[in-house]
Amino acid sequence: MRFNPELDAIKTYEAGKPIELVVREFGIAPEEVVKLASNENPLGPSPKALEAIRTAAPQAHRYPDDSMFELKGALSRRFGVPEESIIIGAGSDQILEFVSRAKLHREASVLMSRITFAMYEIYARQQGARVLRTPHWRHIPEEFVELMERERPEVVYLCTPNNPTGDATPKADVFRIIEAADPDTLVVVDGAYMEYAAAKDRSFAISPSEILAYPNALYLGTFSKAYGLGGMRVGYGIARPEIIRALMKMRPPFNITTLSLAAATAACGDDAFIERTMELHFNELERYEAFARAKGFETIESFTNFITWILPEGIDSTRLSDALLRRGVIVRNLAGYGLNAVRITVGTPRENDRLFAAVEEVLG
Ligand SMILES: *Cc1c(COP(=O)(O)O)cnc(C)c1O
Repeated sequence: MRFNPELDAIKTYEAGKPIELVVREFGIAPEEVVKLASNENPLGPSPKALEAIRTAAPQAHRYPDDSMFELKGALSRRFGVPEESIIIGAGSDQILEFVSRAKLHREASVLMSRITFAMYEIYARQQGARVLRTPHWRHIPEEFVELMERERPEVVYLCTPNNPTGDATPKADVFRIIEAADPDTLVVVDGAYMEYAAAKDRSFAISPSEILAYPNALYLGTFSKAYGLGGMRVGYGIARPEIIRALMKMRPPFNITTLSLAAATAACGDDAFIERTMELHFNELERYEAFARAKGFETIESFTNFITWILPEGIDSTRLSDALLRRGVIVRNLAGYGLNAVRITVGTPRENDRLFAAVEEVLG
């Protein structure tokens, strides 16, 4: 069968391997599998969100409130931005898709750093747009400015903190890139891990209201990472109303379920959970840094809930991740990004003990 020829250039996105797969393929009991591959919160969902899901469940026969009044109100209060500046997506992924469809076509191009979130490219290719990358994987303003002047891309993606590298871009650099962009270029600041950057070093924390100061920028946030709601699929975009109105034209009706709306609204007010999350995370992150030093792995300073280990020549990232998988430990191999590296989500102390022991065992 013939399909849209743009599909030929698309590599299907490979998600972190699910626990069920390791259970089926290696006969390991589900409670023995340690999943550190998808940057989920190891504490589980925010308890307030869990309670809200239970309370909302009997309303599952009703269509959700398509105006998303409660959640928009909660986000509006949290970030001090007007409700007409907010759009909600089934994960911030869905908003990336709206952006792509609203801005891109066969004559258009998008600009991003050399190594960044894989979905930017996939959504761009669906529209037949050209994908441009800066030479370095860090977001270097000079590189972005030069390519923006030469190529006039329709969309620029700034992922800070960046996935899968874990580094963050200084605020001043982000604003410099936005300010240098053409008024018709939409600069998307993807803050999927911003809560972690904010907890580590305020000078890297960009708030949605700061992004609203620019007429050509869009901030993206998600409930999937720090808030522990990856399974509920809720993300948000914040921008000037002109941008939000265009993205709203791409939105299918009822794109967020009743339970997801309830969970995200409750999670918005759960600051205690975020505090607990950050305390556990940064304690455990130190153990990963120490382990890497002891093993002679290079690390990229992490502003996220994962750490990226760049492996020495004698250790192959594909072989290491496969060997860990057979031991019931799922990590993310970055060979597909052209790196001999693994990305590991920082888990609970027990999960991290398992990971360290498995790595020791594999390396002998
Ligand atoms: C996880 C992630 C997202 C989106 O996650 P959703 O679950 O779709 O909200 C977006 N950008 C980056 C960089 C991510 O790592």
